[in-house]
Amino acid sequence: MKPLPNEGFPAEDHDHRHCTDRALERAAAICKRRGARLTDLRRRVLELVWSGHKPLGAYDILDALRRERRGAAPPTVYRALNFLAAQGLVHRIESLNCFVGCSDPELPHSGQFLICTSCGSVAELNDVRIDDAIRDSAAEAGFTVGRRTIEVDGLCPHCQEQGRGPRGRPPHNIAGGTPPLSPRGDGDG
Ligand SMILES: [Zn+2]
Ligand SMILES: [Zn+2]
Ligand SMILES: [Zn+2]
Repeated sequence: MKPLPNEGFPAEDHDHRHCTDRALERAAAICKRRGARLTDLRRRVLELVWSGHKPLGAYDILDALRRERRGAAPPTVYRALNFLAAQGLVHRIESLNCFVGCSDPELPHSGQFLICTSCGSVAELNDVRIDDAIRDSAAEAGFTVGRRTIEVDGLCPHCQEQGRGPRGRPPHNIAGGTPPLSPRGDGDG
């Protein structure tokens, strides 16, 4: 397998509506082909995750959803996010306990993410060479690799251009202050 082309960080002034429309169209096609049900709620949650290229916490999504659907509760959001993640339509950024939309759900994934600590944007890397290196080194230790996720902090090209410095960890969510929603009640903040 060759390394996949990585889309990287989109320009700050790009037409984001296009990203969202494309993601929703793809999700509909993928779910239809797989016989998975992309309900209105799941579709709406996906659209909310695609509000931008910055990961959103489940509480951000819940807040937005509650403005539209009175009965929206944490399990509602969890179930929708679990479905979307299982279909590869969103990814969970573990270090932030947040979710980001996948721009190419049907490509093989290596679970590698670049996280800008200044603006909070996330881009995916799917570099099979990194996977191979991990697998080979692990094999030397007699270890068989299962799930692996690599999250790399740094500065995106736009933030570097504008001389923005790292802010430590990007905020957990746009609302700020709300704890990450997790069934285990943990979080890293
Ligand atoms: Zn976009
Ligand atoms: Zn992806
Ligand atoms: Zn940035």
